[in-house]
Amino acid sequence: MIPRTEGAVMNTTTNMATGLQSLSIAQRLIASVLAPMLGLTLLIDAGFSSDYRLHNGAHDTRRAMGLLCH
Ligand SMILES: [Zn+2]
Repeated sequence: MIPRTEGAVMNTTTNMATGLQSLSIAQRLIASVLAPMLGLTLLIDAGFSSDYRLHNGAHDTRRAMGLLCH
C-alpha cells in the first residue's frame, strides 16, 4: 500500500519505500504531449540554425527520420 501525503498540492503520491513519486493520469498526459513537442522544437531549431555546428548535429537525425534537410 502506498501512503498518501495529506494536503498534497499536486495530487502526487510518494512511495515511502523507494522515495519515488507517481504522477496522476492528467500529469502523465501533459508530459506525454509536451515532451515530444519540446524534442521536435529542439530538433527543428537546431536543424534550421545558421550555425553549422548546430545544423550538423541535427542533420543526421533529420535524415534518419526521413525528413528533408538540404
Ligand atoms: Zn542538413
